[in-house]
Amino acid sequence: MSKNITKRSEDYSKWYNELVVKADLAENSGVRGCMVIKPYGYAIWEKMQAELDRMFKETGHQNAYFPLFIPKSYFSKEASHVDGFAKECAVVTHYRLKTAEDGKTIEVDPEAKLEEELIVRPTSETIIWDTYRKWIESYRDLPILVNQWANVVRWEMRTRLFLRTAEFLWQEGHTAHATEKEAIAEAEQMLNVYADFAENFMAIPVVKGFKTANERFAGAVETYCIEALMQDGKALQAGTSHFLGQNFAKAFDVKFTSQEGKQEHVWATSWGVSTRLMGALIMTHSDDNGLVLPPNLAPIQVVIVPIHKTDEQLEAIREEVKKITDRFKKLNISFKFDDRTSFKPGWKFAEYELKGVPVRLAVGPKDLENGTFEVARRDTLTKETISKEGIVEYIQDLLEEIQATLFKKAFDYREAHITEVNSFDEFKEVLEGKGGFISAHWDGTTETEEKIKDLTKATIRCIPIDRVEEDGVCVLTGKPSKGRVLFAKAY
Ligand code: AMP
Repeated sequence: MSKNITKRSEDYSKWYNELVVKADLAENSGVRGCMVIKPYGYAIWEKMQAELDRMFKETGHQNAYFPLFIPKSYFSKEASHVDGFAKECAVVTHYRLKTAEDGKTIEVDPEAKLEEELIVRPTSETIIWDTYRKWIESYRDLPILVNQWANVVRWEMRTRLFLRTAEFLWQEGHTAHATEKEAIAEAEQMLNVYADFAENFMAIPVVKGFKTANERFAGAVETYCIEALMQDGKALQAGTSHFLGQNFAKAFDVKFTSQEGKQEHVWATSWGVSTRLMGALIMTHSDDNGLVLPPNLAPIQVVIVPIHKTDEQLEAIREEVKKITDRFKKLNISFKFDDRTSFKPGWKFAEYELKGVPVRLAVGPKDLENGTFEVARRDTLTKETISKEGIVEYIQDLLEEIQATLFKKAFDYREAHITEVNSFDEFKEVLEGKGGFISAHWDGTTETEEKIKDLTKATIRCIPIDRVEEDGVCVLTGKPSKGRVLFAKAY
């Protein structure tokens, strides 16, 4: 299979799909909308998981696990929640198969019908709040700060590898609190954890904001989100944190005795990020040659390729390489010494470029003579010859520099693609031209939001948390507005 991929300028969507497959991240499976995450892709996801898990624990959360199946009746308890998820639920109706009359085919045994159908979790608020009822009696039992790493199923109609799949991997935090103030603080804290992770670990700049009522999570009082901008000018919701008020506590009758001895409903939050982050990573940094990985997320940070003709040369290279890889180990720099003789150096160069390995070292007989290595950067595609003295420190610094450069590049792009507009003509012109976020006044109604979506396909991505209040008029209706919101076409 050719490793060449379509150029982004030719067909961005095709570029993305080809890259995901050719860089060995994931592929489609026999089940519509469900993907196979391949070892290289999974290794990146594991890096994300490890860092997020560390951050969750640092902020006082613990992991737990709840069942995959949720009784249908649980869903009907919170009215807006069921409304939001009903259209995309997978339902288990039977628990047994049998051989059909033809003696060959297998069919569902009609006699093995479940008394109550089970929903494959699209999210776990219902089963978790049914459980929390048993865990919570008094204020002493609060807060509960739990996270779960799991898979969920949402029967999405239009799916894309990583970005929108019918089954996806995620984490979902579910917390219970004695006061409204504490629950809001928790939802905001987790939004900040996500933003910190996206920016400092994934090198993806994000806008923190609130969703409009229309885009809010089904059952939430407030949905906070981080929104990222992809290289094609489309936005991507990269993470959400919900303040759920007392909605689930009321639906599942979860009360506690307060310090004053009163019975009160518990306050809740939930928050999640998914394997969609893999899509965000790819679409923020990668180029026409393939994946570009920030060092923090790269399963291999440094690849070392020997260039040799004879076995003696390879042996000599091995000795030199071992001296530096021993030090990489001590510094937790992950590396791969690819000394396979079944592939040529040129093939290896192309392969690691496609896979986004941040730094490539090449060493041949000339380098041995001169005491040097050739150091190539994946992000800028530049090469340098570096003396072996001090090369480990050089690479340590270089990895940090690459991480910072990737963030800066994405940040500059994002900043250049937030455009303030003051008329609907300007709105359409920017949207169809350079794309990106459009900062515009909106009259605050769902009706106008929907109308703009129908006319342009752009949605309100968020009301930025740090927006300045400013009197203006709605770009569509001319009605009064208190401040600008961010619109964009989105994945
Ligand atoms: P939600 O529970 O709807 O707030 O979503 C939680 C997180 O999962 C958000 O970061 C979404 O971007 C992400 N997400 C939602 N639906 C999908 C999907 N079909 N595939 C991948 N990620 C998703």
